[in-house]
Amino acid sequence: MKQQRTYVLCCCTLIFALVVSPLSVTAQEVEDEREFDYTEGSEKGPAHWGDIKEEWADCKTGRLQSPIDMSDRRVKMVQKKDNMKRNYRPFNATLKNRGHDIMVQWEGRDKAGSIQLNCTRYFLRQCHWHSPSEHTINGRRYDMELHMIHTTPEQKIAVVGYLYKIGKPDAFLSKLLNDIVSMTDQKSERNIGIVDPREIKFGGKKYYRYMGSLTTPPCKQGVIWTINKKIRTISKDQVRALRVAVHDYAEKNARPLQPLNQREIHFHGTSPKDTFN
Ligand SMILES: [Zn+2]
Repeated sequence: MKQQRTYVLCCCTLIFALVVSPLSVTAQEVEDEREFDYTEGSEKGPAHWGDIKEEWADCKTGRLQSPIDMSDRRVKMVQKKDNMKRNYRPFNATLKNRGHDIMVQWEGRDKAGSIQLNCTRYFLRQCHWHSPSEHTINGRRYDMELHMIHTTPEQKIAVVGYLYKIGKPDAFLSKLLNDIVSMTDQKSERNIGIVDPREIKFGGKKYYRYMGSLTTPPCKQGVIWTINKKIRTISKDQVRALRVAVHDYAEKNARPLQPLNQREIHFHGTSPKDTFN
């Protein structure tokens, strides 16, 4: 009888754990699932991404790859005002731990609003973080980089990137931090309700613009990059939380710099040296 009671109790505990556990039931360890990683010298590392799958060939042979260094001597000044119009809207979103990064994905294809570039509208789909930064300015790598991914219905891609250095906590990330921490080392996802992309403040009308690629496989090219010149801040704890949450192989999830190959980098605004970092 006692044994039976213990058994019932165990079952209840198990059911309770399954129902109440903060981790998604779809959560899985990602160790064996990784398709690529960021480890130098690893056979799945950045130097081999282009060999892993045929569809990833651009990672190896593409001539318009990202990220790049934006040095003053390579940058061409464009004395034009900000031609990018932003029209974001708050909408329901899901937080995902993809193993190699943490992503906020807005539901629907066009619900979270868009940016407009040269008469084309690109709809906001998701944002995610890299640490340290992938792009560098005059060789300086920053502590973190946020990418906002936008697409057209024809799957043209425009990415807006923000660079961060250690300082005050980032307000947008602060709101998500508890959810991010609870997903540590788990490939999982959860609905986080309404997320307002306008809380990622654009801050400034100076930016770099160039043609590049996605910085993760399949490294698809033809991506219009806009990198904000203004450097924001993030706290050490926030960087740590992002790094710990993803899997070990992506603790530092920045792809190495890629060759410029005669591409032009435009700087919109006044002189790139004229900054207030
Ligand atoms: Zn990215």
